[in-house]
Amino acid sequence: TTRRVTRALLSVSDKTGLIEFAKALAGHGIEMVSTGGTAKAIAAAGLQVKDISELTGFPEMMDGRVKTLHPKVHGGLLAMRDNKEHADAMKTHGIAPIDLLVVNLYPFEATVDNGAGYEDCIENIDIGGPAMIRAAAKNHDNVAVVVEAQDFQAVLDELAANKGATTLALRRRLAAKAYARTAAYDAAISNWFAIQLKDNAPDFRAFGGRLIQSLRYGENPHQTAAFYATPDKRPGVSTARQLQGKELSYNNINDTDAAYECVGEFDPKRTAACVIVKHANPCGVAEGPDLVTAYRRALACDSTSAYGGIIAVNRKLDAEAARAIIGIFTEVIIAPDATEEAISIIGGRRNLRLLLAGGLPDPRTIGLTAKTVAGGLLVQSRDNAVVEDMDIKVATKRAPTDAEMRDLKFAFRVAKHVKSNTIIYAKDLATVGIGAGQMSRVDSARIAARKAQDAAAEMKLAEPLTKGSVVASDAFFPFADGMLACIEAGATAVIQPGGSMRDEEVIKAADDHGIAMVFTGVRHFRH
Ligand code: 5GP
Repeated sequence: TTRRVTRALLSVSDKTGLIEFAKALAGHGIEMVSTGGTAKAIAAAGLQVKDISELTGFPEMMDGRVKTLHPKVHGGLLAMRDNKEHADAMKTHGIAPIDLLVVNLYPFEATVDNGAGYEDCIENIDIGGPAMIRAAAKNHDNVAVVVEAQDFQAVLDELAANKGATTLALRRRLAAKAYARTAAYDAAISNWFAIQLKDNAPDFRAFGGRLIQSLRYGENPHQTAAFYATPDKRPGVSTARQLQGKELSYNNINDTDAAYECVGEFDPKRTAACVIVKHANPCGVAEGPDLVTAYRRALACDSTSAYGGIIAVNRKLDAEAARAIIGIFTEVIIAPDATEEAISIIGGRRNLRLLLAGGLPDPRTIGLTAKTVAGGLLVQSRDNAVVEDMDIKVATKRAPTDAEMRDLKFAFRVAKHVKSNTIIYAKDLATVGIGAGQMSRVDSARIAARKAQDAAAEMKLAEPLTKGSVVASDAFFPFADGMLACIEAGATAVIQPGGSMRDEEVIKAADDHGIAMVFTGVRHFRH
């Protein structure tokens, strides 16, 4: 799968590093072909270079709009070397193979950044360059394509190591980069057009992805919005079939995603589980022997907030669960699937949306998440850490009992899906108090405890459910105070990442109260 490089086509606007690279190619006896400016620069360095017009038999024309758009070029880039028919076509039409393509594009982005006028920007849209890049990348089996000077060295290293040949591994890596470059280039052009059109609804396909649906509005009515699919086919709101109810809104989609990603943490073969979400945060999560039990227990955590919520379940929705769910106003139900009977029960509530995702997302899969900041896009790999895989260490004198440990893991699993700072109280595999999104961890601990008190009052219980519960914190306790607030609320065991400068102080406070505390070594910030 290594391929000898006998001929290279170089056509670069940015000539950084070009001469040194060309010298090295010449040293390997590689024939070079170039467009006007590039050929001139290479020749000026005293190297042999063939003009592209010599190859095509056409002059560069129309202000350079047409230079390399010719079958002699594209045939040389696209021909499969091991294909008889392709080889015959090359012979018949006098097409010479091109084994290495070096192109960087007309500086469209820089032209825009420099405040150039409309005509100038348009003229800096490269046509032949992207066409060649895409052709060479498609034929990466035979051709290496370089789109930035940073990769010159990698190519030279391979040529040196493999007697003037490149490996398939490198050619694949370069092909991936090549398509990322042409995608970004076209995205820049599309965004520039949107600005010219003073369009408040730029075409977000320029972000990558296929349009799923235009939305009536965004987070607020004065914002425009749309829903796009990314290349990863993760089961969820983007893959779901909507059986009934109004069109989903931007906020519905966001909340449904939060609910389904959380319920995906619960393996349906091990347990039934239900998550109720409001404003992208769970307000109740529970396991159960079946969905209806899981739903009732999730609802009990905070039945006030659950009104108008989004419900996600991890198993095929059945009739019992469907009947219970329609007992209060709910916006959306999402499930992997549903029984005919469940579908017909939900059918009685015309406004309730029922989404069948066709599968459950695997919390361990890799993927990307993105968030915009002013003038930028922050991208990270998704938080695919799962509590079972963590190296859990007991930090205190007392180790958790089996029941406590089971609930601690449950609580930490939920904490991953709640906005930081997060404090989760749990008991018997159900949340009993959720503290979300506070700027202080102590506040999250207190708010969750107070909500548990409210829930107990509503259910006319003698004491809040936090009594004898366990507690999870998404990040370490920087001081003992946050943990002490949890102990005050009745927690008997704690799970947290650990790693604070004051861990010793926090451990001592736990020991003083006979609390069992474990460290996961993994943090679940979610902002
Ligand atoms: P040079 O400086 O060699 O004259 O031109 C190099 C630039 O021309 C590169 O940025 C390359 O992408 C671009 N280019 C190559 N072929 C074509 C073509 O057929 N049409 C257009 N518009 N640009 C081309």
